[in-house]
Amino acid sequence: MGKYTFAMIKPDAVESGKWGLIINDIIAAGFTILGAKMKRMSLTEAKAFYAVHSERGFFCELVDFMSSGPSILLALEKTDAVQSWRDTIGATDPAEAKSGTIRAKYAENKGRNAVHGSDSDENAQKEIAFFFSEAELILNR
Ligand code: UDP
Ligand code: MG
Repeated sequence: MGKYTFAMIKPDAVESGKWGLIINDIIAAGFTILGAKMKRMSLTEAKAFYAVHSERGFFCELVDFMSSGPSILLALEKTDAVQSWRDTIGATDPAEAKSGTIRAKYAENKGRNAVHGSDSDENAQKEIAFFFSEAELILNR
């Protein structure tokens, strides 16, 4: 059970302006933000980030969406960060997400679902390193 996870506020929630409310929820849930940046991913970056899903039927739609506008990239710290963030965001499909979760409150549908969360400590480390250099993270404070 690690201390770090990687989160993204996806293009739908940046475009709609809901990202400020989501940042509030992140802080209210007790996460420390170690790194943050806004970035529009290229199609190539989106394909690399979601490579694990490349054989899935939704892959093209997913990478088109994720490169369609800016996302907010976040390195988060909290005890048991991966599970805690998954609990905070709720199920992939907002129709199935528990009430009060970020996806239940802000997601449009299963594809445009407002936020990303790492699914394991190993992937959290890889995903943070995909977007942040060590110098960009506030560590050891
Ligand atoms: N996705 C989709 N249709 C699906 C499943 C997933 O469009 O049937 C998208 C959705 O944006 C999701 C992302 O692909 O967040 C990654 O899927 P995953 O199963 O890893 O869900 P997550 O870990 O984000 O809950
Ligand atoms: Mg996933």
